[in-house]
Amino acid sequence: MSYIHDFISFTRDQYKTKEFIPLHEPRFRGNEKQYLIETIESTFVSSVGRYVDQFEQKMEKFTGATKAVAVVNGTAALQVALRLVGVSAGDEVLTQALTFVATANAIIYNNASPVFLDVDLDTMGLSPKAVEVFLNEFGEIRDGVCYNKSTGKRIAACMPMHTFGFPVHLDEMIVVCKQWNIPLVEDAAESIGSFYKGQHTGTLGLVGGFSFNGNKTITSGGGGAIVSNTETLGVQAKYLTTTAKKPHAYEFFHDELGYNFRMPNLNAALACAQMEMLDSFLRDKRELAETYGLFFKNMGVNFRKETPDTKANYWLMCVELADKTERELFLKETNAAGVMTRPIWNLMYKLPMYQHYQRDAQRNAEFLEERIVNIPSSVR
Ligand SMILES: *Cc1c(COP(=O)(O)O)cnc(C)c1O
Repeated sequence: MSYIHDFISFTRDQYKTKEFIPLHEPRFRGNEKQYLIETIESTFVSSVGRYVDQFEQKMEKFTGATKAVAVVNGTAALQVALRLVGVSAGDEVLTQALTFVATANAIIYNNASPVFLDVDLDTMGLSPKAVEVFLNEFGEIRDGVCYNKSTGKRIAACMPMHTFGFPVHLDEMIVVCKQWNIPLVEDAAESIGSFYKGQHTGTLGLVGGFSFNGNKTITSGGGGAIVSNTETLGVQAKYLTTTAKKPHAYEFFHDELGYNFRMPNLNAALACAQMEMLDSFLRDKRELAETYGLFFKNMGVNFRKETPDTKANYWLMCVELADKTERELFLKETNAAGVMTRPIWNLMYKLPMYQHYQRDAQRNAEFLEERIVNIPSSVR
């Protein structure tokens, strides 16, 4: 098992440290402090302020989305994204079981049910083929609306997640969703800086959601964004996340159930400074991925790379190990040596609250669950 020890020293060389190496830590080397101090001095630390508007504009420019709305976190972004496309109580949403729990939680917060479908082995994200197979067996279109024949429920959205920043097969996903008249919502929480055929992830579906949590590629402390190329959906996103208040000089009139999900200006100040660093972060991560790639190739280990037609952000890098035994050994030795590594998530239907939802055979998800391990991926 000498490659594990080689990996430990290789990683220590990359980060030039003998200390503990975390999986992903933020870097504040730009205007972060300056913008935060400015914000405090302006007293506009809360729900009004110029950094919120600025950050939304920066997101629009970077992703190419018509509209971006800054929110409190990625989970809230997904919750509202689903509501925007019409998901409501009693509906179903197709998604993957191999994901972070927030994807599924956002569905439940809308009083809808997840249907867990398999991922592709290459992207580790929701498989358009699995969606197609499921719909061919259980889908039924009545009056232009897709229903699940086995439950009688409406299938109100399909929400793939771009695992670790590797885009799913979006062209194929768009085709199957169109064919069955199902709105596509992208969980792009992990994929700021990831592109599919030159188009930014999160902007190919009807609505997309991003996260700027502390462990993501760029961070606002806590934060998220909803993006859409449909102007009206963007406007509605802003409205719903700011308590659905009718604009008026002094009256408080709210015409539907909204949320207080607006990103505070203090967090937006941090987000703006981080946004300025994004290109350099992406460059460094790409270089690190190439270096890891070469190292693992020589060791005969499968380091996961971006798929054709995509540009990944390499948010969390990972290796696919031979089997579960190999994985346990790798996790044990690296963590004992202070180089943090972590297995991919437990599949959603193995969590107590998600045991009873419909799902397919999950052959690929089960395979990956046993083998994928994340390795240190911070910007150096
Ligand atoms: C991080 C993440 C989220 C949620 O983001 P928060 O900002 O932590 O709420 C949602 N989905 C996925 C896949 C994530 O990785």
